[in-house]
Amino acid sequence: MAVIDIFAQNSDLKKESIAYGILKFKCPRCHEGDLFTHSNHYDLGNFLKMHKNCPVCNQTYNPEPGFYFGAAYISYAVSVAIAVIAALIILALGYRAPGTIIGAILIPTVLLAPINFRLSRSIWANIFIKYKGVPKKEVQS
Ligand SMILES: [Zn+2]
Repeated sequence: MAVIDIFAQNSDLKKESIAYGILKFKCPRCHEGDLFTHSNHYDLGNFLKMHKNCPVCNQTYNPEPGFYFGAAYISYAVSVAIAVIAALIILALGYRAPGTIIGAILIPTVLLAPINFRLSRSIWANIFIKYKGVPKKEVQS
């Protein structure tokens, strides 16, 4: 289980908060429907697949062609953050060999790539699609 899953499950995130939608990979509009068709981040054949629309509120997840191009910038920032944290940890542990430092940066960056991909798309969608709650029709049923 990934660190982000453990954080999302054990934190007291309010459902209305943007962090809830981002960290649980939920629909940015209703925070109920899943963004991705498969919940396992490491199902390498399927981790890229997203629903076209929210299964709960029918919000489209792809409002225009190329909508997720901008998520690459977020993915880059997350990758740099992972690399910097990994480098600081390995340097704090006293390792100075360049090969060790490069390995310590590459391994977590590569292993966390599927989560980084999903997190970046989730952040990007939450920037441009605002939370409106669950439609009333869905609440009563
Ligand atoms: Zn929704």
